[in-house]
Amino acid sequence: MAERSLLLLKPDVIHRSLVGTIIARIEARNFKIVALKMFDLTRETLDEHYAHIVAKHFYPEIVSYMTMGPVVGIIVEGKDVVAGMRQLCGATNPAAAEMGTLRADYSNNIGFNIIHGSDTPENAEIEILRFFDADEVCSYERKIIA
Ligand code: UDP
Ligand code: MG
Repeated sequence: MAERSLLLLKPDVIHRSLVGTIIARIEARNFKIVALKMFDLTRETLDEHYAHIVAKHFYPEIVSYMTMGPVVGIIVEGKDVVAGMRQLCGATNPAAAEMGTLRADYSNNIGFNIIHGSDTPENAEIEILRFFDADEVCSYERKIIA
């Protein structure tokens, strides 16, 4: 199976009407979108997804950020898509991210860093199972070189 990554456009992207802009940037990189939906995160799912930061002092702010509205979940497929999407997202702190990355171009605040991208192919598969049912993922051939 092709490598996949799980992306979340965080709630401020919807609030700021940047959904189309961010998706256009992902498409411009030529990654193949195989699933896409808008939904609310439950506290239980968020705690699971962010288990590695649940004990951090800033976690309550993350909870209020990630539950201030719906997120857009996207599964993208492609060669080295996990590293490629992390490159496109930029550093966790937008203020330190390279210009031209999504986080630098659309944020200046680590508390609102607009997008999640899986950090390894293995974690991507775990995250895909966390947020998507199998019948929500499309299978199709692209008529262009991926
Ligand atoms: N985060 C934060 N302050 C920090 C570290 C992380 O607000 O000092 C938030 C930020 O929204 C980040 C999320 O916690 O995206 C998850 O952290 P992680 O280290 O997994 O960063 P990422 O993989 O998103 O770059
Ligand atoms: Mg992470």
